[in-house]
Amino acid sequence: MVTQEIRDVEEEKRAAVAAGQGKQGRWTTWESVQQRDVPFSVLWRMEPLRISFLWRSTYDLLPTPVNLSRWYDDQSDICKACGQKGTLQHILSSCPSALSSGKYTWRHNMVLKVAAEAVKRRVECTNAEDVPFHIDRLVPFIKEGAPPWNNDTSLKPCILSSANDWQVTVDLEGEGSFPEDIAVTLLRPDITIWSESAKEVVIGELTVPWEDNVDAAHERKLTKYAELCEWEVVYQALLAPHPEGILI
Ligand SMILES: [Zn+2]
Repeated sequence: MVTQEIRDVEEEKRAAVAAGQGKQGRWTTWESVQQRDVPFSVLWRMEPLRISFLWRSTYDLLPTPVNLSRWYDDQSDICKACGQKGTLQHILSSCPSALSSGKYTWRHNMVLKVAAEAVKRRVECTNAEDVPFHIDRLVPFIKEGAPPWNNDTSLKPCILSSANDWQVTVDLEGEGSFPEDIAVTLLRPDITIWSESAKEVVIGELTVPWEDNVDAAHERKLTKYAELCEWEVVYQALLAPHPEGILI
């Protein structure tokens, strides 16, 4: 209890200092971003350059043109690619030159690839179950006086619990688009998971927004895919802010 108390006091002090720092404390204003806990066991396995990037991008300490001009007299604060002011936000999420040359798309697709692999593994596991998940595990008995739900995540129903014939397609090269026998649409969701037996479609949309824009990006995606809700399918958006400012 003493350790926790001291930890809380220190954390409060740290947050107060951070909130007063306009630049390095910018993260204190990120409202829709999940806090990310990076324990030592994870840090230990990360590549040094990746740790460095993680920290320096969070606290705006990367050598962006704006920072270079602040640190050195002879440096310009202009983005060399497009001529606008080279802030961290500009470089990582709003440089028109990086956008038109496909750099942001490349990053999006790299993240999508990793997300898609995880989704496919999960779908494979679900499909391998003989009995759909919800039938025998959805309503566990709870002892008198116990909390309403034990926190064992393996017992919780998930979005795929209702069937075991899920198929997946990802909007990456070499994969199919949205299944035409469900709906004819020009929309291309990043990840589409569907089950013929349950007549359900799950759409996963990924975006890599600037942390301040997580809410706006979420809204934009919901609006974009609202059209598909009008079809007679069960539509569920897998949209939730992710620790690294990524929406899945
Ligand atoms: Zn630029």
